[in-house]
Amino acid sequence: MVDLAKITSLCKRRGFIFQSSEIYGGLASVWDYGPMGAELKNNIKKAWWESLVYKRDDIEGLDAAILMNREVWRASGHITSFADLLVDCKNCKKRFRSDQLKKDKCPECEGALTEPKQFNLMFKTSVGSVEGKGSEIFLRPETAQGIFVNFQNVVTASRRKLPFGIAQIGKAYRNEITTGNFTFRSREFEQMEMEYFVYPEDAEKWYEYWLKERMNWYTALGMKKENLHLREHEKDELAHYARRCHDIEYKFPFGWAELEGIANRGDFDLNQHATNSGKDLSYYDEATKKRVIPFVIEPSGGIDRAFLAFLIDSYREEKVRGEKRVVLGLSKELAPIKAAVLPLLRNRPEIVSMAKNICKELRGKNRVVYDDTASIGRLYRRQDEIGTLYCITVDVDSLTDKKVTVRDRDSMKQDRIGVDKLKEYLEDKLK
Ligand code: ATP
Repeated sequence: MVDLAKITSLCKRRGFIFQSSEIYGGLASVWDYGPMGAELKNNIKKAWWESLVYKRDDIEGLDAAILMNREVWRASGHITSFADLLVDCKNCKKRFRSDQLKKDKCPECEGALTEPKQFNLMFKTSVGSVEGKGSEIFLRPETAQGIFVNFQNVVTASRRKLPFGIAQIGKAYRNEITTGNFTFRSREFEQMEMEYFVYPEDAEKWYEYWLKERMNWYTALGMKKENLHLREHEKDELAHYARRCHDIEYKFPFGWAELEGIANRGDFDLNQHATNSGKDLSYYDEATKKRVIPFVIEPSGGIDRAFLAFLIDSYREEKVRGEKRVVLGLSKELAPIKAAVLPLLRNRPEIVSMAKNICKELRGKNRVVYDDTASIGRLYRRQDEIGTLYCITVDVDSLTDKKVTVRDRDSMKQDRIGVDKLKEYLEDKLK
């Protein structure tokens, strides 16, 4: 497996991920996604949204605000329970999560540690122009609560019947104590969460169902089966709201670690919000003429972690005619660039102009780029490294036979295709 240093360097070099505020020395564990990163991230989100909202008829989308009334976090338990136990090293002053320490000494300098104390992971900010306790609010540490507090709104607006889900993608913030491993544990990150509301008696069945569905989502997008597994939480590891929870873990270079959690949250959240807000959040079951608080099955994934796992999983190095070739074998849905149009000779205006015209024709739904900033060998290498699916080369013969060479990223096989057939050819390949 590729080491993390290679991935970090590729991310910087090819514009996937940059350190946030880099010119000012950065901000720890906060990251910016560059031109290629923005594409890949969007493609991951699109694939998730399509699989849940477009390809099914039982899930609605939502886009709730990051800032919420602080009472939400009291009801959800985050104000009291969303905390890690932390210890300080009395010698080097570094901070650690006490549950991650193997012994009672500082892992960096062997110094003595302070007694563990609770540290809430929510970022505080204030609303309005007067600072003080009354104006204090939080940046959401998960997107899920936006869904629960809108449960009744969505039921009424969409006339949904159980079972049904609400899906949401958005930023979340956690003031993590221990960070590192590149983007794996960031302080600002993005989640893709879906709350699936079911009759309580069906919860176990739907739980098993979503475990399978979510594993299949990763493998259908090309992630290798052997690098994924499910791990069930022990009873003492379960979050305060969960009855059962499995993590989908990926085999990162630093070990197996969580990509996504799938939890049976029971009726905890709707009950809590109903009690604390005084509003009725039950569901009226027309069949039994009774009101019921649905149970919730929640697949909750991190986009940044999926991004990192897809990069690691698709990275490969090959020897081609004695030379090293680096390829990102991303699936066609995820590849940031679907095709690159390259003129074989960049000093021949007719070839350049033909290549630019072809590129213009192909642009639109898919990201297609033109590049003539290096020799053809270097251009191929650059496109392979960012996972571009097809390289279309315009050469001297193209001027007369009106055909171009299309090179497949993985097999490196080349097809000679008529310019008039190119759009159709590409659309067919990308289907
Ligand atoms: P961990 O145990 O790794 O701290 P968690 O169990 O607290 O994660 P959840 O609260 O279940 O995480 O959040 C759901 C998903 O959000 C995680 O599976 C992960 O993909 C993502 N996530 C959570 N915290 C972070 C973070 N600090 N940086 C990036 N992604 C995160």
